[in-house]
Amino acid sequence: MEKVWLGLGSNLGDSRQILQRAWKTLGNDQDVTLVVLSSPYTSSPVGMTSDNCFVNAVGIIETRRDPLSLLRLLQQVEKGFGRDKKTGSAGYQDRLLDLDILYFGNTQNSTRELRLPHPQIANRLFVLAPLMELDPLHRNPSTRKTVAQMHSELLLQIENDETIFQEIKRSSWNVKE
Ligand code: AMP
Repeated sequence: MEKVWLGLGSNLGDSRQILQRAWKTLGNDQDVTLVVLSSPYTSSPVGMTSDNCFVNAVGIIETRRDPLSLLRLLQQVEKGFGRDKKTGSAGYQDRLLDLDILYFGNTQNSTRELRLPHPQIANRLFVLAPLMELDPLHRNPSTRKTVAQMHSELLLQIENDETIFQEIKRSSWNVKE
């Protein structure tokens, strides 16, 4: 069994409920054991123009699947929640559900289909904040940096205007916005 860290995000519909239902759906797979899900975090969209806020969380699972087979499962679950991949549109778009593999044990992979660890972890407060809640000392197997190091470096970059401001709030699973 490999320990895997997943990023969950949604910015359309009842995002909290979508993330919770997606998490449960993953747990129905016979090769997936759910370990823990962080609180939900609400944030303004990064790298896209949209009026919709994002809700993000990070979950830890254990799985017997290999990385590509897990990716296929995530894509199936995304599809089941009606995520519509518009062909030809560049960059980010509004989405009902986005599931990413952040870490797959210590696996490193750099194909276009699957990059591990996920290359954007260090730039995204909406990933680092829930990671901080779950395990601040977890090390990125490729850069060897801990979550806490990446988190404080990103906060410093934001403070120094070296990167865009990212507003993020910790929330709870049982409140309505
Ligand atoms: P996105 O639309 O941002 O969710 O990107 C999805 C695409 O990223 C898919 O075609 C995946 O094959 C690819 N991808 C590369 N690395 C990862 C990863 N670590 N987790 C999820 N998708 C990935």
